Amino acid sequence: MNDVLRDRIYASFSGGGVPLEELCGGLLSQQQHSWAELKQAYDSLNTVRSRSVECDGFSVRLVFNPGRAVNTTAAVRPEEIRERPCFLCSANLPSAQKGILYHREFLILGNPRPTVPFHLTIAHLDHRPQALCEHIETFLKITADLGCGFITLYNGPRCGASAPDHLHFQAVPSGQMPIEGELENTGIFIPLNPCSETRGARVRRATGFGREALLIEGDDVSLIAAAFRDYMDTLTEPATKEKPPEEPMINAAASLSGKVWRLLVFPRRAHRPAAFYRDDADRIVVSPAVMEMGGIIVTPVERDFDRLDANTIQSIYREVSLADT
Ligand SMILES: [Zn+2]
Repeated sequence: MNDVLRDRIYASFSGGGVPLEELCGGLLSQQQHSWAELKQAYDSLNTVRSRSVECDGFSVRLVFNPGRAVNTTAAVRPEEIRERPCFLCSANLPSAQKGILYHREFLILGNPRPTVPFHLTIAHLDHRPQALCEHIETFLKITADLGCGFITLYNGPRCGASAPDHLHFQAVPSGQMPIEGELENTGIFIPLNPCSETRGARVRRATGFGREALLIEGDDVSLIAAAFRDYMDTLTEPATKEKPPEEPMINAAASLSGKVWRLLVFPRRAHRPAAFYRDDADRIVVSPAVMEMGGIIVTPVERDFDRLDANTIQSIYREVSLADT
């Protein structure tokens, strides 16, 4: 372990000892005392405006949070990414930022631009690209280690990740995203493949949410991972000479209920709605990532917070989701 990393470590987790959830609580509390940027971000969370918008069969929580402007308008073109220092590499973290070393592979950090309190970023120690197919087992194991109090999140490199070049997940306390409760209460499920149940993981489309969502459930990591990869295969476009293979555009969220994992996958066809790229009064600064697909729509622009209505929100989902449900 190099000195840069050693200086970053608040605690280590390798499977036993103090529960990970408890360590994360301790980390965030310590960081709010010793890292002014995080304290300020948490203070400003107390003043964000939010309101519920009832859509056709589902609801969203619209949030005005100017502190998220960096994420919402993040430059993600490859040339722009190459030119900036990576903010998830441990050598580039602010000096006051500490983390939990997770199985000597990831650093769990307080997110300095939280969408909700206890928002964590889980960054790989190496600078390597976002890719969930390769790391789905780890994603599910982190979910289990965090326990049922958290939901673990993933943004694909082309649809929401602010650092597409550095493998990372996020975690937020469970129950924050409206779709979590709606899946329990109002979700309508269609089996994706009649055979999927026999392979040990239940794979279903969750419909009625205005955006496509796939739900994979099971108690065996390898079977869920296999079902996830099978689904990703169906989304993958064949590579050509001009177009190297790319991960299909998806966002994902995983949670644990008892011993059963719940993996929710949102297939995407666009990163941002066309209105995001306008340069006139009709511009809408909403950049859907996993939180938005889960029903928390963040805008750093107050005018958008005031004017977004159910029709506009439904149309944004239709535009960025792979299929309209
Ligand atoms: Zn990096």
